[in-house]
Amino acid sequence: MSGLQWDFTVRDVRGVGRVAYVLPVVSEQLAPQLLEAVVCRRLAALEGRCPCGATVTLPNRAERRRAVREGRTLTTTVEHEPDCPASDDRLAALARDSR
Ligand SMILES: [Zn+2]
Repeated sequence: MSGLQWDFTVRDVRGVGRVAYVLPVVSEQLAPQLLEAVVCRRLAALEGRCPCGATVTLPNRAERRRAVREGRTLTTTVEHEPDCPASDDRLAALARDSR
């Protein structure tokens, strides 16, 4: 998703462990719709809930423990509402259109 800058943050999350986030950066340089999408995306990832109501889905405990034992990285998913600007497709389109 070009047109965006990305940052990398690691946080300790209770019950999960260390979590790495790669998220688009909030900037006043962004077009208003793209800015809204970025803010929603960050809220979903960092707070666990998007304004559209979507929540972060973690892999189950067994998968998380197995990943730690094997040194693998797990990913989470967020199923945004179809009209949510933070969904992968909408965010990519907004970034593409803002170039
Ligand atoms: Zn959403």
